[in-house]
Amino acid sequence: MTEQKTITTTALSRLQALAQGNGLAPEAIKLVESKEATYTLTGVLNMTPHIEVRTNAYNGRSKLKGVQVLSTFAALNEEITKAQQAFEKEDSWAKEAVAELKKTKGYGWGQSDSLLTWSDKKTTLVATENCPTCNGTAQHPCPDCQGIGFTTCPHCEGRGQELCYLCGGNGQDPANPAKPCPTCNGTRYAPCRHCNQTGRLLCPPCQGKGFIPCESCQGAGVITREAHITKGARLSFSLSATSGLPSGLLRAVSRLGEANLPKGHADIALVPEDPEKPQKKTTLLLEAKIPYADIKIVINGKGAIIACAGKMGRLLGIPAFLDSALKEPRRELARAAHGAIPLKVTTRAMQDALKLALEGKTNPNALRRLYPVGLSGDVAKEIMDHMELALRAQTRKLRLILAAFCLMASGGVFALFFFSPLLTPLSIKTATLIKAALPVLVVGADWFVLSQAARWALKRKFPTLPLAATQSIGRTGYATLGLVFALYVVLFLAVTFLRF
Ligand SMILES: [Zn+2]
Ligand SMILES: [Zn+2]
Ligand SMILES: [Zn+2]
Ligand SMILES: [Zn+2]
Repeated sequence: MTEQKTITTTALSRLQALAQGNGLAPEAIKLVESKEATYTLTGVLNMTPHIEVRTNAYNGRSKLKGVQVLSTFAALNEEITKAQQAFEKEDSWAKEAVAELKKTKGYGWGQSDSLLTWSDKKTTLVATENCPTCNGTAQHPCPDCQGIGFTTCPHCEGRGQELCYLCGGNGQDPANPAKPCPTCNGTRYAPCRHCNQTGRLLCPPCQGKGFIPCESCQGAGVITREAHITKGARLSFSLSATSGLPSGLLRAVSRLGEANLPKGHADIALVPEDPEKPQKKTTLLLEAKIPYADIKIVINGKGAIIACAGKMGRLLGIPAFLDSALKEPRRELARAAHGAIPLKVTTRAMQDALKLALEGKTNPNALRRLYPVGLSGDVAKEIMDHMELALRAQTRKLRLILAAFCLMASGGVFALFFFSPLLTPLSIKTATLIKAALPVLVVGADWFVLSQAARWALKRKFPTLPLAATQSIGRTGYATLGLVFALYVVLFLAVTFLRF
């Protein structure tokens, strides 16, 4: 066999790299034989015309430039129907769809029921009509003044004259009844002060204009409708006959996802048209060239058949060989988790797990990201759980001592506030406020002390590894916080109800 075994070599070295430093010598993974080849999958992409019309209406004229403007809404609807019919009849859309597909990486490979649109296939039609309510005048005669703009002055009832306000209408000078009134000159009437003698007042709703803006069109007079027409193609892809291809390859393709093949797993190409049998213009023939290998290997004396698929060499069917390779380190970690022995990490996987746990990332998926094959999910979870427990076991002694200290110190602080005259000089309101805030402050301080103590102890043990800002205080820690709070409640009740 002179065939190049590119992905087989890559697969083998990746597995050996995983084994390295994890209780398994790289040489323990050996290649027995590999059937590697580049296979060709073929598929058909069917395209159907797709047209989408989105309409909207608004008051006023269109501000769009360079669009087709029609005079009536009826003409607009007609134009839309015409565009739809023409689009489905002509096959220029298929040509454009192919041109658009050629710009994409996979020519639409794997695209089932997706929509392809292109920007120069967007058309906008516009029609503007007069507002039917105001007939394009944009306004209505004012209902208050019937379009006159003025109303009759209610003070003088339109006469422009009012009964003289100085003499009260009797014509005599109030200061000297023998003389005529200086304001009305004895006529008993004076010019109206409200309407300035005109007898009418400006109509308030229309401000004298006689018209108010049309409510239907908000004073615009015209209404515009826009139709945005998007033309495109609906794509539907189907894989052609796959007989003769290895079943492992087909499983791998469905695992990777057909639509993902163009994303670096396979080379997609258009199959040139056979001049003997011309194909439909709405159909594209595609092919995907994908490397695939059925590989027989031996891992630590045990045979296994694995697969490697795609240009990025996705590995499939890898047995969880790290589970057993890490058997002894896992047993030691379990003992450390129970505090039986000090925590010691000797393998790379355990080192990685330790780093993650110190950073507070205890989710098993974090470890599986580093070991995507070869390590089972159950074992990843077991390792992370035990690592977390083992770290707490490391700091247990210190945390116990500090827990006792926190309990005593907190009790002391509470006693100081409840039984000493410390709060006496303060007002009752301030004293109550301080007493209410006390448990929160004290429990918070205790949590901080316990967490930082755990962090300090871990930092001393693993000086070179990065640590999360706070560390779990463990069950002892939470029990301590609960006790501190209970102590506060007891003291509070005692002081309040028994009146010590
Ligand atoms: Zn109107
Ligand atoms: Zn008016
Ligand atoms: Zn008046
Ligand atoms: Zn008068």
